[in-house]
Amino acid sequence: MTDIRNQLFINGTWTEAQSSLRSALFNPATGEQITTVPMGGREDAQSAIEAAYDAFPAWSQTAAEERSVYLRRIYDLIVANADHLAEIMTLEQGKPVKEAKGEVLWGADFFLWYSEEAKRINGEIIPSSRTTQRILVQRYPIGVVAAITPWNFPSSMITRKLAPALAAGCTVVVKPAPETPLSAIALFDIFAQAGLPQGVANLVIGNAQEIGQEFLDNEKVRKISFTGSTAVGKYLLEQSAKQVKKVSLELGGHAPFIVFADADLDAAAEGLIYNKFQNNGQTCICANRIFVHESIQAEFMDKFIAKLKDITIGNGMRDVNVGPLIHERALAKVEDQVQDALDKGAKLISGGVRLTEGEYATGCYYAPTVLTGVTRDMHIFQEETFGPVAPFITFSNEEEVIRMANDTPYGLASYFYTRDLATTMRVADKLEYGMIGINESALGYVQAPFGGVKQSGTGREGGQHGVDDFLEYKYLNINF
Ligand code: ADP
Repeated sequence: MTDIRNQLFINGTWTEAQSSLRSALFNPATGEQITTVPMGGREDAQSAIEAAYDAFPAWSQTAAEERSVYLRRIYDLIVANADHLAEIMTLEQGKPVKEAKGEVLWGADFFLWYSEEAKRINGEIIPSSRTTQRILVQRYPIGVVAAITPWNFPSSMITRKLAPALAAGCTVVVKPAPETPLSAIALFDIFAQAGLPQGVANLVIGNAQEIGQEFLDNEKVRKISFTGSTAVGKYLLEQSAKQVKKVSLELGGHAPFIVFADADLDAAAEGLIYNKFQNNGQTCICANRIFVHESIQAEFMDKFIAKLKDITIGNGMRDVNVGPLIHERALAKVEDQVQDALDKGAKLISGGVRLTEGEYATGCYYAPTVLTGVTRDMHIFQEETFGPVAPFITFSNEEEVIRMANDTPYGLASYFYTRDLATTMRVADKLEYGMIGINESALGYVQAPFGGVKQSGTGREGGQHGVDDFLEYKYLNINF
């Protein structure tokens, strides 16, 4: 992969960072160094913001059709380059290349969707209380957007923010996660090929604290869109108060996955395998607490374990289902949670160990793990896991399971399986989550508003709602 460009993209030009410092990037599957990338800092962030600010007047005033054509062109180019983008992602992030390609194409869909939505940012005419007045409500792009993205979905978390922002007429500065800068660079290569006007989309990679602080302090940034940890999200929200910046946050989750006694157990087991081991458990919507009715616990567990045995683990460049964890810190956190649960009385049904032999020796591999008898006092019941661990808890009635499912400060994704319509409606009403999969374990759809309640965040991404966060209202009161 010597053809990987590793520079910043500011004002339509590939550029070096101000500092000559570089940081090494490692392949989590092998532990090998892939390359080094520039350590951009405050001044680079400032230049990028400046470029976005200067580009805003012209971009925000282009016809919606014109912006739509750019977005459609980007979609076509991502699709045409999907294999290349997927390989880059697997190299730096670890997920199997088939899964990486799925993410790239899903990420591309946001450009397709918002190329259409760009043309439908409509206003309103509201009848006034006086006959000689008309109230017009128009919608305007908010201004320069700073987007901070995570490593678990290195491509789609950028496109899910950028596509609606550009559709709305905003200009953008992106700061990707330090673990996955190459996927961001590869996307920006495509934006350049699509001929986006200079300054409309800028990329700054490097020191997160410095770049983040410039986003917060610079008055030219009017909106921060963040996906990442709850701790960093809270800091950004608090600091944004100083200039009353608009903030969207997609933070941690602690998803309950409930299997009621009348559920289709095969479908639930299949759904749980997909949901739990997608991206090796490193998603904010992965099942973190699996509640199974006591009457079907044994039967469901047998079905789940049977499917678990088919999971293959290894370097994502090969045809495997699951790759490595992102880095040593992630592995250590999983180990700690499992050890804590075992110390407090959980039972280990499967896994529970690092994989260290043969091809696993130099990468970050952990065996798919199943725990039963998980209780409220264990860290795994309280904290997001972000790894391939399935903690099981039994329940005896609906009221009890809803109480346990809601017993968390998070409110992002939740899931339940039942065949009963009345149970479906009652439980859906009572779960305190932004998203609920019912007999379904996938939630990331381009048409749907993705996001959470409580401490999982604010704002929605995707669908018609996803563009709202990049717009302001302006109301005109016309007297005639
Ligand atoms: P994780 O622990 O899963 O990596 P983070 O919240 O640390 O989650 O990372 C998500 C994104 O936030 C990354 O792009 C990271 O570089 C960025 N980030 C981390 N700390 C800060 C900060 N103080 N200000 C701005 N961005 C930050």
